[in-house]
Amino acid sequence: MGSAFIRRFESSVKNTLQRYSLASRGDLVLVACSGGKDSTTVLNILHALGYDVEAIHIDLGIGAWSKANKANIESFCEGRGIPMHAASTRECLGFSVCYLKSSLQQKTCLSACSICGVIKKWVLNRKAKELGADRLATGHNLDDEARTLMMNVINGNPDLCLHSRPKREGRGKLFVPRIKPLYFASEDSIKRYSMEMGFHVLYERCPCSKDSFGRGIYDEVGRLGRYVPDIKDNMVKSSLWLQHRCRKGESESARACRLCGEPSRAGVCRTCSMLFQLRNDKE
Ligand code: AMP
Ligand code: ZN
Repeated sequence: MGSAFIRRFESSVKNTLQRYSLASRGDLVLVACSGGKDSTTVLNILHALGYDVEAIHIDLGIGAWSKANKANIESFCEGRGIPMHAASTRECLGFSVCYLKSSLQQKTCLSACSICGVIKKWVLNRKAKELGADRLATGHNLDDEARTLMMNVINGNPDLCLHSRPKREGRGKLFVPRIKPLYFASEDSIKRYSMEMGFHVLYERCPCSKDSFGRGIYDEVGRLGRYVPDIKDNMVKSSLWLQHRCRKGESESARACRLCGEPSRAGVCRTCSMLFQLRNDKE
């Protein structure tokens, strides 16, 4: 069934799942579903392969874009009988994403995308623990990983480059192990897969990310790909090689945030320090 491309694509994702032991049969895999092509592809393939999957969607409250994404993932799950959990930052943190972004941007030098990214990660980990998930799967793809590696080098955070891999263990019970089945799949191949499969998803990016630094890096990596076609593969493979070589020196220093108990590299996690700033500035 399906075209040769679809079979090839699915078998390369299956290969990543097996080669990196991303999940075992019987594991409850919670798939973080934005409603877009990447996470819908992950959910579809894991479900087709017989993994025990559930979906979680965070409503980001970005007008019609969020409404359409939510409706798309809801109907995808309904059609396949996959349980879907809806989460919101209002329920988990007491504020809408929109409010957090606009207030914090006025008071800090953080971009809308990094605020949203920190919060999404916090909510997903918290919910995955609550739901008893054994794995948290995301739709991060080859292009995302190459961009993140470049951003970390440019920002002078080499230690963060050591975190990019298909699977990150839970480090005690702080994190639900996070897996990225599309780690080696390019954005273009996922788009083609999603289109050929006829997924009902939006292909536009988040309207808030248009002018972001991350978006700029994304375009730069794409531009450099004209000179080095394998640039993204080379970047993630170099990072995996370096991680292998310096495994002992890796800074796996996550500990519990003393305010919320979620993982943190410092005493207080980034979400709590953002909330602290927000509350302090209100008084
Ligand atoms: P992004 O941070 O937008 O690059 O998305 C990276 C991954 O995070 C996606 O592939 C999804 O797995 C997950 N994700 C992004 N947005 C949401 C959302 N609103 N709800 C649940 N998961 C999300
Ligand atoms: Zn915290």
